[in-house]
Amino acid sequence: MGKVWDVLAPRNLELGPLAGQATPSSSRAGSPWRNWMLARDEDGIAWLALDKPDASANTLSEDVLAELNDVLASLERDMPKGLVLRSAKPKGFIAGADIGEFRGMTDARAVQARLIQAHAVVDRLDRLAAPTVAVVHGYCLGGGLEIALACDHRIAVENASLGFPEVMLGLHPGLGGTVRLPRLINPLQAMTMMLTGRNVRAGRAKSLGLVDAVVPERHVKAAATAAVTGQLKTRRASVLGALINSTYGRKLAATRMRAQTQKKAPVAHYPAPHALIDLWETHGGNAQAMQRAEIASFARLVVTDTSRNLVRVFFLREKLKGLADGDFSGQHVHVIGAGAMGGDIAAWCAWQGFTVTLADTQADAIARAVARAADLYGKIGHRHIDIRDALDRLTPDLAGEGVRSADLVIEAVPEALELKRKIYAATEPKMRPGAILATNTSSIPLQELRVGLRRPNHLVGLHFFNPVSRMQLVEVVSHDQIWSEVLSKSRAFLGRIDRLPAPVKSAPGFLVNRAVMPYMLEALVMLSAGEKRETIDAAAETFGMPVGPIELADTVGLDICLHVAEILKSSLDRPMPDVSRVLRDKVEMGHLGRKSGQGFYEWRRGEPVKERDVPKPTPEMTDRLILPMLDVCVGCLREGIVADEDTLDGAMIFATGFAPFRGGPMHYARARGVANIRAELERLAQRYGERFRPDPGWDLLA
Ligand code: NAD
Repeated sequence: MGKVWDVLAPRNLELGPLAGQATPSSSRAGSPWRNWMLARDEDGIAWLALDKPDASANTLSEDVLAELNDVLASLERDMPKGLVLRSAKPKGFIAGADIGEFRGMTDARAVQARLIQAHAVVDRLDRLAAPTVAVVHGYCLGGGLEIALACDHRIAVENASLGFPEVMLGLHPGLGGTVRLPRLINPLQAMTMMLTGRNVRAGRAKSLGLVDAVVPERHVKAAATAAVTGQLKTRRASVLGALINSTYGRKLAATRMRAQTQKKAPVAHYPAPHALIDLWETHGGNAQAMQRAEIASFARLVVTDTSRNLVRVFFLREKLKGLADGDFSGQHVHVIGAGAMGGDIAAWCAWQGFTVTLADTQADAIARAVARAADLYGKIGHRHIDIRDALDRLTPDLAGEGVRSADLVIEAVPEALELKRKIYAATEPKMRPGAILATNTSSIPLQELRVGLRRPNHLVGLHFFNPVSRMQLVEVVSHDQIWSEVLSKSRAFLGRIDRLPAPVKSAPGFLVNRAVMPYMLEALVMLSAGEKRETIDAAAETFGMPVGPIELADTVGLDICLHVAEILKSSLDRPMPDVSRVLRDKVEMGHLGRKSGQGFYEWRRGEPVKERDVPKPTPEMTDRLILPMLDVCVGCLREGIVADEDTLDGAMIFATGFAPFRGGPMHYARARGVANIRAELERLAQRYGERFRPDPGWDLLA
C-alpha cells in the first residue's frame, strides 16, 4: 500500500483549480510567470502554486521572490476571497533559500540591499487584505517556512517536516523568521528550533502551534477553504509566551542559552547562534527593530569565513552524493561478521530498506547485533511500523545461507588476512554471478586480500566508520583489478543507504585513518612527555575538532588504534613516533577505552571523566596535532590515493568531523598559506624530529 501511494501521490496533490497544470512545466500554458501558477476556484479563492521549472524541489531564489511580488500586485488589483499558497512539487513545499545564491558573497552591504527587497515581498504577503493560507507538505525549510509564517494560517499535510536549518550554514533565518516565529509559538521553543536547526514533523508542529491543522492530502481543499472562511480554529498567543518575551524574560533565558550554546558551538568558531540570541534578547520586544537587526545580522554573517566554509561543506556533501549516481538495483545484502561493525552495518542497511542476512560463527554475536539494531531503530524511528518492518528485514543467518541470493556481500570479520582469505574462499563460489564482494577492512591492502579470488574484479573495499549510523562517510576502496562498473555500483549502493562515498585507492590506512593516525600518535608523545590528557584534547578542540585525539583514541578502542598504528608504521616509509609501548601497556591491562570503561580516561555512562583545572594548551601544541594531519593529506594527494582536494576535504569532514567551519584540511591549508605551514613543519622537525619533515607534495600545490 505504501508503495502504491508513493507512486500515486504526485498526481494526488490537491491544487484546486490548478489541477493538471503542474510539472512538467512545458505543458503549462498561459501563466505569465515562470515559477508560479495562479487560478481562482468556484468560491473566489485564489490558488497560487510554486513550481520551479527544471527542478525537482522548490528553492527560494531571487527570481521566485520577484515574481511573487508581481503576483501579489495582481491580487491586490482584484482581491480574491482568500489565497491558498502551496507547492506543485511532489517532494515538498520549499526546501529553503537557493544556497547557490549565497556563494562567493563578500560585501555585507550588497547582501543587505538584496535582503531589504526580499523582506518587502514577504511583508506584502503578510499584509494582503485577504486571508492567506500556506499548505505545506514534505520539506518546508528556511525561507520556505518564512513564507509560510507570513501567511495567516498554516495547514500541514501529514508528511510535512518544518524547520530552520540556517544555523548549519553559519546563519540564522534572514527573511523575517527570527521576528515571526517567536511571536507565533513559545519563544523558547522558537529559539530552540532556530538554534539547533532541527526539523519538526507535522504532529509536533501542531502541538507547538506552528501549524493550525494537520490533514491528509485528500482533505486539503476542505481545510484550506475552512481557513479562508474563518472556520479553522487558530491558537491565540499564550500568556506564558508574552512573559518569556518580556525584557526580563528574554534576559534570563538568553543568559542560559548563551552558556549552553557556547559549550557546543563556541562563538569564535560559530558566531551565528550567538548572534541570534543577541538579536532576540535586544530586539525581541519590537518587531520592526528586530526585522532591521535581523537583516543587518544576517548580512554580517553571510560574509564570515565560518558561513562561507559551511556553505562549502554543503556543496562538498552534494558533490560526494553525486558520486552515487550509478545504478545498484539489488535488494539483498549479506553481512559476514556480526561484531561492532558488521552488526551495525547490517542494521543500517535494513533500516534503509534492504533485505539483510547477518552471519556469524557466534549466535550470541548475532543476538547482540539484533538487540543493538532494535535499540537504534527505537531512537531514530518515528513510527512503530517502520521499526517493525526494519527488524523484519534483518534476518539472523547462522548458517550463512543468505550468501547465495545476495547482491552484495559485506565481510566484517576480525582484521586478519588469513581469516578473511579463508572466508572468501568459502564464500565466493556460492555467490551469484555479478554479486559484489565488499570488505570493511581498515588496513589490509586489497591487493593482498584478492589473492586466490576467482573474480578479483568484483572485490571492493567499503570502509565504514564507527558508529555506522552517525558517520556519513564510507571510503570506497579500489585496486588495479577492479571493474569500474563494480565501483560505480558500490557507490550507488552507498547512495541508497544514505551514506556518502569517497573513492580512495588501496594504500595503507587508505585516506582517513592514515591522516588521523599521526594526530593521535603525536598526542601520545605529548602524554608521555608529561602533558595532561585534557590539555592535549583541548589543543585540538580549540582548533575546532569535535573531540580531542586522546578521547578519540579511547572512543575508537585502543586495541584498534594499536593495530592500525603498527600496520601503518610497518608499511609507510614516513617516520612515525614510537608510542606502541604506551598503547600496548594499556591494551595488555585490558584498558581498551570507552568499550571497557577505562582507557586513557575513565568512562562513565559513555562519557570520559575529565579534570577541569588543567593548564591551557599552547598554539604550538595545536600545530603539532593538526599539521601532521594536513601533511599526510598532501601526501595522499601527491600519491593519487584521493583524486582531488574537494573529495579529500569532504572525506575528512564527514568521516572525522574535521572542524567543518574551516572548510576541510586542504581548504584550511590554503587559507592559512602553504608556505606558512611548510615553514612551521620545518621548524617543528628541527625541534621535535623528522616526523614533522614536510611532504614533497607541498611543493606541488600551486
Ligand atoms: P569484531 O571483533 O567486533 O567483530 C568480528 C565478528 O566476526 C565477531 O562477531 C566474530 O564472531 C565474527 N567472526 C569471526 N570469524 C568469523 C567467521 N569465520 N565467520 C563469520 N563471522 C566470524 O570486529 P569489528 O571491530 O567489527 O571489525 C570488523 C572489521 O571491520 C575489521 O576488518 C576491522 O578492521 C574493520 N573496521 C573496524 C572499525 C572499528 O572501529 N571497530 C572501523 C572500521 C573498520
